[in-house]
Amino acid sequence: MTEPRNRSSLSQIQLDQKKSSRREFLGRSSGIVLAATLTGRGHGQGTQTSQAMKPAERGKNASDFGPENDLLKQANPNTFLPPTTDHGEVPSFWNSFSTSHRRIQEGGWSRQVTVADFPLSKDIAGVNMRLTAGGIRELHWHDAAEWALMLNGTARITAIDNDGRSFVADVGKNDLWYFPTGTPHSIQGLAPEGAEFLLVFDDGSFSEGNTTQISDWSRHTPPEVLTKNWGVSPEAVKSVYEQPADGHYIFQGEVPPPLVEDLRSSGAKGRSAVDFSFLMSKMAPSVKARFGEVRIIDSKNFPVSTTISAAQVVLKPGGLRELHWHQNANEWQYYIQGQGRMTVFFNGAKARTADFNAGDVGYVPKTFGHYVENVGDADLIFLEMFKSNRYMDLSLSEWVSNTPPELVMAHLGISRETLEAIPKTKAVIVPA
Ligand code: MN
Ligand code: MN
Repeated sequence: MTEPRNRSSLSQIQLDQKKSSRREFLGRSSGIVLAATLTGRGHGQGTQTSQAMKPAERGKNASDFGPENDLLKQANPNTFLPPTTDHGEVPSFWNSFSTSHRRIQEGGWSRQVTVADFPLSKDIAGVNMRLTAGGIRELHWHDAAEWALMLNGTARITAIDNDGRSFVADVGKNDLWYFPTGTPHSIQGLAPEGAEFLLVFDDGSFSEGNTTQISDWSRHTPPEVLTKNWGVSPEAVKSVYEQPADGHYIFQGEVPPPLVEDLRSSGAKGRSAVDFSFLMSKMAPSVKARFGEVRIIDSKNFPVSTTISAAQVVLKPGGLRELHWHQNANEWQYYIQGQGRMTVFFNGAKARTADFNAGDVGYVPKTFGHYVENVGDADLIFLEMFKSNRYMDLSLSEWVSNTPPELVMAHLGISRETLEAIPKTKAVIVPA
């Protein structure tokens, strides 16, 4: 849909280019030219290209005899042939669940990206989990807080709050939950297809293999203590000591009864007043633009989520999550759908561009400038996650348009006309 507009813009540029000197030309249309240059659009159409501007980094200099991992190369075009604006040594801010070991058991599977595999991500770890219908993630807790997004299917979650009151709820695609540290909880897939979800922990060193599990803890308590604790006979707890030595973790159970029945049968102390779930599936966008939308979820609208804030971003093809930064926290990203690319500016003239596909994880250190561009043919959907109770950002456009104009023009050499064309408010999402 956007292509015809781009093409006509580009042919207009070609005409302009013949008529104007390059300097005048860049002054008037630098935004469009730069975009065409960086995305590689317009190659062979006589437009200004990075190849022409920086011949040393292209052509025969970039030739490659191999050996080459072609699958990785195809998925990472901006790494193989980086934009000539990339510069300096920058650590990898790319990772992927698709290269993580999958722990598969009866009832489902899990895989994780932690600081062990992704050194940059010290304060957030992610887990991707699938549970069959009836499949159970064992009753457990941990010393990191857990934020979750349902990716597919339906699940039943349970917890007790700090007063010991019961919480039970069903969640579906695009719904969230949050369990604070030490809050015991479980997750179970519902009929017909079970569930798949993403878990985000506010600690990069968190591991799903290191949680307090109910069967594990009970089995590793002396029987005379467990029987005394519960006031039951040794015979009554015999089965506890026949459970797996490492706990169940994930196991196949029966599909639970309708929610009303679980609500009726649980909660000797009554129902919790805390809502650990959030129906993002029913939430109106926080920002709605022509080329996409954003939903922001933090402790303002999801009060229990005091250590994690999130933005779910949908970008239409060609759309750009504008150049921006976050003042208060590192950003951990999860790509749900589509193809994107991101350049992160690492200060000191260092910048690197990477490609992101569904299942990939990205990371942007606190305050570092970045954009995300949809370079595919379908909607790009991704999460921006922060270890913070509050979502916060500033954009390059709002910076330059809310600073004395002469000062900005002196820095960038742009004309007043160009400066006036820059959006005065935070656009968040910029059209193609
Ligand atoms: Mn958990
Ligand atoms: Mn961001």
